[in-house]
Amino acid sequence: MMDDRLMAGELQIGDMDSEGTLRPKSLREYYGQEKVKDSLKIYIDAALSRHEALDHVLLYGPPGLGKTCLAGIIAAEMGQNIRITSGPAIERAGDLASILVKLEPGDVLFIDEIHRLSHTVEEVLYSAMEDYAIDLMTGKGPTARSMRIALPKFTLVGATTKAGMLTAPLRARFGIIYRLEMYSPEELQHIVARSAGILGVRAESEGLLEIARRSRGTPRIANRMLRRVRDYAQVRGDGLITPEVARDGLNMLNVDSLGLDQVDRNMLETIMDKFGGGPVGLETLAASTGEDANTIEDVYEPYLLQLGFLQKTPRGRVLTAAAYEHMGRRYPVTAEKMMQTSVFDEESDSK
Ligand code: ADP
Repeated sequence: MMDDRLMAGELQIGDMDSEGTLRPKSLREYYGQEKVKDSLKIYIDAALSRHEALDHVLLYGPPGLGKTCLAGIIAAEMGQNIRITSGPAIERAGDLASILVKLEPGDVLFIDEIHRLSHTVEEVLYSAMEDYAIDLMTGKGPTARSMRIALPKFTLVGATTKAGMLTAPLRARFGIIYRLEMYSPEELQHIVARSAGILGVRAESEGLLEIARRSRGTPRIANRMLRRVRDYAQVRGDGLITPEVARDGLNMLNVDSLGLDQVDRNMLETIMDKFGGGPVGLETLAASTGEDANTIEDVYEPYLLQLGFLQKTPRGRVLTAAAYEHMGRRYPVTAEKMMQTSVFDEESDSK
């Protein structure tokens, strides 16, 4: 089950209390993602000086990297209000229409999981985004009439973990598209240091770095680990988070030095033992590990790819030598892999 996993990037019940207080409210408090922030700042300043709404923004990347935070910050920096909804919550075109007609000029409308909008809802969104108007049908049968309703200029901020699942027409209607990257341990160390300050947790900076290193590049996970390690520090020590306390606390939670947990290790071992290191298709992997294919794709894989433990090939997922090394196993050199290497060499030779 995903729900109480320490490593899930998604929001969990236990995050709720602190997530509001820990959420950065301005670009200055939002650490990392420097390229995104630099570029966003220019667009925001330009829109402000023209007294216009900001162009529609699409944010994509794995859960917990700060998409919702950034949407709130965009609204705050523009001096506007934000309305928050999500793809699955908007079931019918009418649901979207009633949200849109309530918008005030300049408002930011945040739609999380925007790839999950239905086709009919998406069509309504096209004209809202492009023409700031929607066509509503009234009546039925021969008396049906279409009525055009003008909307105020607003900014849509869409977020998705799956940019590939967005339709081309929807994607084309976003003027600004950013991919959020996983954070470096140093950036995460800053983020948890800020959180520790807010939560009144005493911590040595090396202790915070230890938490950061094991947080899979994800601020939400880093903040969650900080809370667990705080508890551990209170019960086992005097409340101070030292590197030893962080290490022991996280080891006890079965999180290894790179932030892999039991499910990650199980997945790596399955690919090694049952599929000779791959290639293995996503569905097959899901079936043999008992994990959901979507969860594998959104939660586990991005970090394993980032670590360079896993590669996506047209024929499926393949483990690298680094993955074997981390798991303390010998990397098998099979004929298949030798063939892949030689194909690769030929390609790079011809460049
Ligand atoms: P997403 O919408 O991508 O799933 P959120 O925006 O909800 O992620 O971020 C999850 C939590 O992580 C936030 O409540 C916040 O505490 C923290 N967070 C995310 N990005 C940052 C950042 N750049 N700086 C500081 N904290 C962050």
